[in-house]
Amino acid sequence: MLFDTHCHFDFDAFDDDRSSFLRRARESGITKMLVPGVSPGSWARQARVMAECRSYGAVGIHPFWAHEVTRAALAPALEQLEARLADATMVAVGECGLDRARTGRGAAPLEWQAELLVRQLEIAHRRELPVILHCVRAHGHMIEILERLGPLQRGGVLHAYSGPPELVPRYAELGMYFGFGGAVTRPAFTRSRRALLEVPRDRLVLETDAPDQAPSWAAPPNQPAELRRIAQAIAGILGVPLESLAQQTTQNATRLFGLRLDEAGETAG
Ligand SMILES: [Zn+2]
Repeated sequence: MLFDTHCHFDFDAFDDDRSSFLRRARESGITKMLVPGVSPGSWARQARVMAECRSYGAVGIHPFWAHEVTRAALAPALEQLEARLADATMVAVGECGLDRARTGRGAAPLEWQAELLVRQLEIAHRRELPVILHCVRAHGHMIEILERLGPLQRGGVLHAYSGPPELVPRYAELGMYFGFGGAVTRPAFTRSRRALLEVPRDRLVLETDAPDQAPSWAAPPNQPAELRRIAQAIAGILGVPLESLAQQTTQNATRLFGLRLDEAGETAG
């Protein structure tokens, strides 16, 4: 019973054979999946894939796609975002956040990313939903925004946590969970493994971030079926049995996203 809390299963990488990728995931014991939204232009397709796969989802504007939303288009985009949250399978706001590593190729300036992030955090506050955050090389800025807005009622998750181990307690105080996946399997990612060891066990969730973040043993595209081996690697780093890690992280994700545990235990699809 594993919960892939962050999988972009609607992306093109899976178009050729989505049903085989899904079957492999089920055979590996991945019982639940959450597909985060990334841009207004892809929300309809995301919803279709979610329905096909009986997965959970979130609605958001990812910093990589922030440049697609002009100032004039922002209000209608946020209206559409809120309307999509009416669907009971949409259990969070996101993916939204800050990415300082993403420059050039029309990427949005950090100021615009921050404005979109704040507007989405306000929606999470108002709708009392958790938030799925993407943050790369912008943790000082992220903490400042979260502290200024005040704790979210339902908290959130820093997916693919790549920040310093020292910030884990501060984020945890702000009600944040931490998503870990393939990055910790890469020998060079020692800081990620140190951060993982700092995470309170009741705040840890697992993710593949597929098709990105392939683990050290796999060629891209990453796929949800890899979550079992990734979980094994994480259990090894933490020195706990795989089964107890699977149970704990599924419980954590169930609590974070406000699901019923029996729902989270069902076989997807
Ligand atoms: Zn993502």
